[in-house]
Amino acid sequence: MSAEVVDSNPYSRLMALKRMGIVNNYEEIRSFSVAIVGIGGVGSVAAEMLTRCGIGRLLLYDYDTVELANMNRLFFRPEQAGMTKTDAAVQTLVGINPDVDLESYTINITTVDGFKTFIESLTRENKRKRNTGGSKSGVDLVLSCVDNYEARMVVNQACNELGQTWMESGVSEDAVSGHIQLLIPGETACFACAPPLVVASGVDERTLKREGVCAASLPTTMGIVAGLLVQNSLKYLLQFGQVSKYLGYSALKDFFPTMELRPNPQCANLACRQRQGEYEAAKPARDLAARAKAEADAAEAALASKVPVHDENEWNISLVDDDEGVAPLGVVAGQQGSAGHLPEGLLRELPDAEVFDESAQTEEAFVKPEGDLDDLQKQLEALNAF
Ligand SMILES: [Zn+2]
Repeated sequence: MSAEVVDSNPYSRLMALKRMGIVNNYEEIRSFSVAIVGIGGVGSVAAEMLTRCGIGRLLLYDYDTVELANMNRLFFRPEQAGMTKTDAAVQTLVGINPDVDLESYTINITTVDGFKTFIESLTRENKRKRNTGGSKSGVDLVLSCVDNYEARMVVNQACNELGQTWMESGVSEDAVSGHIQLLIPGETACFACAPPLVVASGVDERTLKREGVCAASLPTTMGIVAGLLVQNSLKYLLQFGQVSKYLGYSALKDFFPTMELRPNPQCANLACRQRQGEYEAAKPARDLAARAKAEADAAEAALASKVPVHDENEWNISLVDDDEGVAPLGVVAGQQGSAGHLPEGLLRELPDAEVFDESAQTEEAFVKPEGDLDDLQKQLEALNAF
């Protein structure tokens, strides 16, 4: 990935993030694999953003086809109607950035066969694998962009089994709110740790769908949620800024709630409880590493404070103590303390603000908020006296 600043380099504006000190390893983006489950209004836009960012490898999962009813959203085009969403996405993305390795999986992960293919594709060896931390997966991040609870639970199951970090996203049926959430098996709550009310109360999600009533969607809300999701993904992968654990978005009030969800020790998901146990067991090693890092940071900071910020002083700028020989500015010429700051022969026309305020206060020229004509006259005279 070249950082050369020429019009023909598609990565020059991204690599500029390094020069500006935001990200110090941007080129590493080429080494990451990201799986996106659900290539709808959020997933397709997230895929395009990651493709334009130069991600190394994208795995795309969806079983659906493109419909004209999807055209109120971003990404897909009318001539792609009838194509599978994954194939249509690959067609567009390869045209945008041929550097990205794209894999298209037209499967339903909630079926037995689909789930098997899903796990196989996630665990397949790949030359880019850089994932550490004991995960059995061959990808660095899974993004869930599905539109139903059942599919989210399947992604949750796969990621808990593999110890795979993932991010969940969602947009409400009325199209005016959404959220993103980071899920690290064992460390944060999984999707089953705190089930939504509809599941806790035992209602079958499928019975909630009313015949002839379709969910609303807006390209704006979906684009915003996709943007938040990919922003958080970039921060997580390239390790800059603060990665959000949960970030909500309420469009009607432009409210962005955040929160942190700890895992539930009584979670119904066995793999989740296993990952929680492993996370607990690794605590001493984690504490040790954190202490070593804090000490290294402190040593680095101490060293940095001894090094001059700028070796050269091209403009001969020097620091002067506050009480060292600087007379107050702007006193009427002829009065004490001001003459030294004006070249000979020049006079100041107006007093400085301090002197003006003092005289005004002593004469009580401005203290009355309301007054009759005489008062105004006096105030004017006081002004003209200068
Ligand atoms: Zn759980």
